[in-house]
Amino acid sequence: MHLGQYPMEAIKRVDEPTTKITNDVPRMPKRANFFVRSARGDLGAKQQKELRRFVGKVPLNRAFGKVMGAITPLQRGEPNGQSPELPADLTERSNHLKALAHFMDADIVGICKVPDYAWYSHDLDGNEIPPRHKYAIVMLIDQGYETMAGSSGDDWISASQSYRAYLRGSEVATVVASYLNELGIEAQSHTNSDSDVLHLPLILQAGLGELSRIGEVVLNPFLGPRFKSSVVTTNLELAVDKPIDFNLQKFCDSCLKCARECPCGAISFGDKVMFNGYEMWKPDVEACTRYRVSNPAGSGCGRCMKVCHFNKKGLFQHRLALWFAINVPASHKFLIWLDDALDYGKRVSDWNWWWNHEWRGEQIETPKKTNERDLRPDRTAPSNQKNVTFYGIETAPRPDAKEALPIRKPRKKPQKD
Ligand code: SF4
Ligand code: SF4
Repeated sequence: MHLGQYPMEAIKRVDEPTTKITNDVPRMPKRANFFVRSARGDLGAKQQKELRRFVGKVPLNRAFGKVMGAITPLQRGEPNGQSPELPADLTERSNHLKALAHFMDADIVGICKVPDYAWYSHDLDGNEIPPRHKYAIVMLIDQGYETMAGSSGDDWISASQSYRAYLRGSEVATVVASYLNELGIEAQSHTNSDSDVLHLPLILQAGLGELSRIGEVVLNPFLGPRFKSSVVTTNLELAVDKPIDFNLQKFCDSCLKCARECPCGAISFGDKVMFNGYEMWKPDVEACTRYRVSNPAGSGCGRCMKVCHFNKKGLFQHRLALWFAINVPASHKFLIWLDDALDYGKRVSDWNWWWNHEWRGEQIETPKKTNERDLRPDRTAPSNQKNVTFYGIETAPRPDAKEALPIRKPRKKPQKD
């Protein structure tokens, strides 16, 4: 029961993540997150205004938000003072918690130690966050293959796909953390609503994926990038998993599909760079955030996830392609060509089930525009990509800054679509 529905045990395990990570990864304050920067006005008044209606402009998102908001106060529970007997065997403990997460409908689960740099350095009031737990139980929740296939990735269902997985992740992680509290153990859940940890390094360390060309997005061999994560941190001693290697670094080296299809040119067509201690394909986080927040013809964006070669359902032919991607690097170019030739990434109109509605002022209206994109196989690197800006730790705002701190950078215009 601890293995779940996807055969992660068949994927090669390695001692270190396939992305080079140095020993001096800086800890980031929550204030440096670009959605927080948008909310505080660092990206300008227009962006700040859009941020206020970004999630709630779609009625379905508001419904998700209400339920998630009810879970958030439960995330920081206290152990109840009991100390019942638990198995001494660490693997048995880990398997029990993984089985519980799967029982609660998490799709894939891994466990790792928490490196200090995975903890945010400061909360939104500027208070220091001490690294306080040793272990992380990391859970992935599928955003839903069919709906993503029916969508362009940046139309009016896009943000709701994220919220579907955020909500389920909140529910699962908060029940797991509360259960540990019931057993007298310190534990806290970290979700999209409230997290003291960065999820990306934990997903890597817990062996749930590799870092991809999309940039600050990890890919799982079976879900691709089509997931959201939630985390439980605890001091209960547990057995940990090792990182995985499914040959993604080589695959992304040859493949540019996500970069080609990104509506605002935020994904690198170039090589990896060193950034804040990671050797990675660095995206333009500002351009991506701006587009997701103020997308005028949809709600948010997940187009890179939608078009990715690894966004597959697990049918026989998908598993066969995955086997070749992992075991036969010489097949990568053919697989990349085949994905476009078979129209993966085009919208499947039969799976468009949702209604397009948008709050405008005090009224819900039918939106004037909807992004209806399909594939653009001939699209090449935009010329302005040479100027992609990296926001290293030295550009981070003061952790306690409530006021707008305009970003310090050489300006580049996001590419016009
Ligand atoms: S703008 Fe959309 S497609 Fe581009 S990186 Fe951001 S989420 Fe992905
Ligand atoms: S679309 Fe291609 S390059 Fe982009 S993350 Fe997926 S496999 Fe890698």
